[in-house]
Amino acid sequence: MSLLLDGKALSLKIEADLAARVAVIKEKSGRTPILATILVGGDPASATYVTMKGKACQRVGMDSIRLELPEATTTEELLAEIAKLNANPDVHGILLQHPVPHQIDERACFDAIALEKDVDGVTCLGFGRMAMGERAYGSATPAGIMTLLRHYGVELAGKHAVVVGRSAILGKPMALMLLGADCTVTVCHSKTRDLAALVKQADIVVGAVGRPEFIQADWIKDGAVVVDAGYHPGGVGDIQLKPLGDRVAAWTPVPGGVGPMTIATLITQSVEAAERQLG
Ligand code: NAP
Repeated sequence: MSLLLDGKALSLKIEADLAARVAVIKEKSGRTPILATILVGGDPASATYVTMKGKACQRVGMDSIRLELPEATTTEELLAEIAKLNANPDVHGILLQHPVPHQIDERACFDAIALEKDVDGVTCLGFGRMAMGERAYGSATPAGIMTLLRHYGVELAGKHAVVVGRSAILGKPMALMLLGADCTVTVCHSKTRDLAALVKQADIVVGAVGRPEFIQADWIKDGAVVVDAGYHPGGVGDIQLKPLGDRVAAWTPVPGGVGPMTIATLITQSVEAAERQLG
């Protein structure tokens, strides 16, 4: 039998632990941890993600502030809002929902988030620290994947991990986190030649491409660990999961695998940030 890497179940357990930690923060400091979320523009999927993150805050006893900015917001306007949140002692974590409208310099805005409030792990400084093996809040999706792999006891040291995708929030930090866990890592992207042959060598495959069922089941070798970060309408990810059947060692379902772990990681890092700032 293949092992189901059940992100939904693990996220519920993590939330129960976080609720207890939030109760302690409230009792000790008399204050409630607050995550500020920023949504720019009207993308319905982004609005749904922000709503889900706000609800997760509620479930663990945190508060959230939701800032909604118009589609035409400029970089300067967004930077001004981030500066206000950085300076607000009642706000312990800041989430800027990706992607922002094209006229905005997203990198500049991510990097304007104060490091101690960068609970979604999007700043260059946080990324650099993580890459060097120093303490930092990890980018939420890959950090959630690492938590999931470790929880289920997936052996990482010495394994060949193939990450398909190299985005700043997912593929790149994923590759460095796996490297930090002593995997040998291959990072693939749109210019990679003979992708199928590279995926075929993987002990661990991470799909972070953003194309429905792009990674074919017959590219994946028997006994591999399969992590699908994608989510598309119709409940499919970036990897063709169904035909894999029981011939892989472990796999993340879509939905219910990586998605809930992303949110659980954001909330975990928000609670940690509040503990540090209020402790
Ligand atoms: P992205 O920014 O669009 O990056 C996609 C990556 O895939 C790029 O590095 C791109 O290469 C690569 N790629 C595109 N076509 C390719 C091809 N034909 N062969 C090989 N590589 C190819 O996407 P993202 O933000 O990283 O997201 C990736 C997936 O994860 C999406 O399905 C997204 O929905 C999902 N996601 C899920 C969560 C969650 O919480 N579950 C969070 C974030 C993202 P180049 O760099 O060469 O363009």
